[in-house]
Order: sequence, then C-alpha cells, then structure tokens
Amino acid sequence: MSQLETGVSYFANRWFHHFVRDLDEMISHGCTFVVHTFSENDYLFARGTIGRFFRATRDAGLGCWADPWGLMGLFGGEAFSKFVARNPDACQVLSDGRIVPAACPSAQETRAAMKDWIDAALEAGSDTILWDEPHLFIPEWEGADFAPPEAWACRCPRCTERFRSDLGGDMPPELTPELQAFRQNLLLEFLGEMIAYAKAQGANNAVCLLPVGEGSREALPWERVSALPGIDIFGTDPYWIIFERDVEEFVAEQTRKVVEVCQASGIRPHIWAQAFKVPAGRESEIEVALTTAKAEGATILAAWGYRGCEALSQIACEKPEIAWETIGRAFSRLRSR
Ligand SMILES: [Zn+2]
Repeated sequence: MSQLETGVSYFANRWFHHFVRDLDEMISHGCTFVVHTFSENDYLFARGTIGRFFRATRDAGLGCWADPWGLMGLFGGEAFSKFVARNPDACQVLSDGRIVPAACPSAQETRAAMKDWIDAALEAGSDTILWDEPHLFIPEWEGADFAPPEAWACRCPRCTERFRSDLGGDMPPELTPELQAFRQNLLLEFLGEMIAYAKAQGANNAVCLLPVGEGSREALPWERVSALPGIDIFGTDPYWIIFERDVEEFVAEQTRKVVEVCQASGIRPHIWAQAFKVPAGRESEIEVALTTAKAEGATILAAWGYRGCEALSQIACEKPEIAWETIGRAFSRLRSR
C-alpha cells in the first residue's frame, strides 16, 4: 500500500447530488483526499451543506481538508470577503495610506473571526485545516489600477504603534530588513495562535506557503513557520506557468527545500501542482510536476484543482478535460508504485 496521499481542490458547486458524482470521479482519478474550499460565503450561507459534503468525503474513506479560501483577504482564493467591508478598522493599510480589502492579522476582530471559522470547519467535519498561502496584502494580485506594486502593508494604527513599542522608533517609509522581519512576525504570530487553536481541537494542520526565491517579497520564512507547534504537514505551490519557470527545475528546487525544512521538524512534505491556467498542449507538465515532487520526497501531492478548474473561466485550463485525465493518470500511477 502506497504511503503517498493525493488530492485535488474542490469548489464552485454546492449541489449535493453533483458532489456525490464528482466524489466518485475523484476516487476513480486516484484521489485519497479532497481540499474543500470553505469561503466566507459558505460560512455564512452554506454551513449545513458543507457539512454534508464533508461527511460524504469522510464516509467514502477520503481525507477531508478545509481551506479558508480568500478568507478576510488573508489567504489565496477566488472569493470575496464580507468581513473587510464590515470591519474597515480591522483592515490592513498600505504604505500609501490606502485601506485595503484584507484584514490585519493583529486586529482582535480578525483573530476572533478566524477562530469562529476554525470552529465551523471542524464542526462541519474536516480533519485537516489547510493554511493556504497566508499573506499580507499583495498589490500585484489586485492589479496596477488599484495600488502601485511597490506598496506594502501593514501601516495601520495598530501596526505602527506596535512597531514603535517593540522596536523603539517610527515605522520607516520603505521596506527595511527590520520592517520586513516585523511584517513577517505579524503573520507568524497570527498563524501560531490559530494553528495551536485548531490543534487543541484535534485538527491536523497543513501549511502551504508561497514559493521562496528571488522576487518573492511576500514569502514567509519557511523554517520559522514550519517550527510553529502543531503543524503536521508543510509545503508550497510551485506553479511553474505563473512563475514562468521550467516545470521540472522549479518543482524539484522547491520540493527539495520543503523536504529539507520538513526533515528538521519531522513533519510531512506537501507539494501542489498547477492544474489551472494550463495552456493547451502543456497538460503533460502536470504529470511531470507530480512525478518530480514525489521523486524529490514529497509524500502528499495535490493539484489545483478538480477538472482543471473548468468552473472558473478566469483560471480554467484551456483543455480542462485533458488536464483532469492527466491528474488521474499521474495519481494512479504514482500511488501504485
Ligand atoms: Zn495592521
């Protein structure tokens, strides 16, 4: 029996009878777990529905991960936040003074809302929380018409006051190494508290951080995050098409770093393959990515996402059917070895 775990993300459907059919298809495509997005919208309007999805997933013998998809603008995901509209005082502030649609991790309101979400995800029946691309606001993701790419967060009154009391001076206008460390600490503290909170309730914690390397201003320090108590799984998402990198080279390089970090902390290495925005003719790269990640030592593989993300045209693969068949073939082959 293979120790390899394989999964896909699942979103854009809340019809239970469709999900039952899709779940069968995920099983026939070699999946051993499902990463369910659990957005603020789901939290507010579909909690019971999500509970049925989670139960069905576990009843089928699959792992059931919950992803705080786009929650409060603090995680990756194509989902809006109501929290930020309701709590402008709890939002991050950019270096140019603009309030952005992302919660400040140091605000008490943010921490309370995150814990409410964890409670809901666990009550609904997930066994693992995926801390998916936690980040401070990234202007590039919002588009140049919103804020200049060099702007950074967070300059809210809480954070500037905290900087002053911790470091004894005014927050500088530009990103000094000291300020970078301070910004990273904001998220580390937040994640540390949330991961411990989820762990105390019996959840597994999986963290997926943005890849590290040149031009990764918003990447978090992997060693420090992986050392947070309560983490079971640690990984990254080397999306080679987005980063315009060679698939094998990029996935191998990032997987080696993940495995190194995991060996030091005794946690399981996890890698995501890009199965969104894949141009026609390049679907075989998904299999290359998964094969490379396993060869380099990742024991939990996942693809974003189900059926090549056909449900969201903005991120769909050009040939989602072929992408999905490729994922299925790769998962089945890699698990049989
Ligand atoms: Zn702040």
